[in-house]
Amino acid sequence: MKKFAVFGNPIEQSLSPTIHQMFAEQCEEVISYEKILAPVDGFVEKASSFLAQPEAVGCNVTMPFKLDAFNMANIDDQAAQDAQAANTLMKCPDGSIKGFNTDGVGLVNDLLNNNVQLENKRVLLIGAGGAARGVISPLLEASVAQLIITNRTLEKAQQISAAVSNSNLDVVALDDIAAIKPHITINSTAASLHQELPCHMSEALLDECEVVYDMVYKNSPTVFMQEAHKYGVKKRLDGLGMLVEQAAAAFSIWTGKQPKTNAIVNKVRELINNQ
Ligand code: NDP
Repeated sequence: MKKFAVFGNPIEQSLSPTIHQMFAEQCEEVISYEKILAPVDGFVEKASSFLAQPEAVGCNVTMPFKLDAFNMANIDDQAAQDAQAANTLMKCPDGSIKGFNTDGVGLVNDLLNNNVQLENKRVLLIGAGGAARGVISPLLEASVAQLIITNRTLEKAQQISAAVSNSNLDVVALDDIAAIKPHITINSTAASLHQELPCHMSEALLDECEVVYDMVYKNSPTVFMQEAHKYGVKKRLDGLGMLVEQAAAAFSIWTGKQPKTNAIVNKVRELINNQ
């Protein structure tokens, strides 16, 4: 049986085993997919011993190990290279490990599934952590007119912008975001996990905004989505579809099969609503 796992710390909350078992059933694969809690300083050892098993095909990697995963793998994938972070590892026939980052394609596919046009749009990306880094090149490749990053710690956004160096990528301080008038506003911070807003939400900021996207998902709209509703933003999406889409991209890398995601997003939504 093909073996997979997701590594993180904490990991108990992960929906990845459920999602991948649904993909496997749909694609007629028989797999095992476990959650593995790695010590904060012990990811490489744990992942290496998992992948050394003959049946092991690959694994997913979540917080806080995406940088460790990037460093332990051979990286050909441009999104992982740009993000300097890997969320998917795959064992090659010679035993070497390849690393990928599917977060960005997950976000872009979820936006497209929800009929969000990215081409020629002005996009504000709040946050400059691993999740933000993973989505920058896929958003630029989707032909957005301008991608503007802001972050509580501005230097981190400036470092990303310097590393990516693209004329459509800009950085602004949180205090200056209202002047951007984004069409799409993406919250890639962890603020919603703590019922906090990542920035000051105002009519001035949101009056041209067509869509807000919060990478965090919960069993009810996040404070960020609620605030956007208050200011009249018509489309408010959370990160559950991104979670399923990034998983689908990983499944496809491992098996060569592309699962259909629509019904699975709905099933996972039901699961979290009943939690
Ligand atoms: P990191 O720890 O790498 O970065 C956290 C980011 O959030 C930083 O930009 C940080 O700002 C910011 N931040 C944290 N708390 C606050 C706050 N109270 N106010 C403003 N900014 C804040 O985490 P990741 O980037 O890996 O993940 C971020 C979020 O995205 C997580 O909640 C995660 O669950 C979600 N995510 C969802 C995915 C999905 O598939 N739906 C995939 C990947 C991530 P600073 O730099 O100033 O500290």
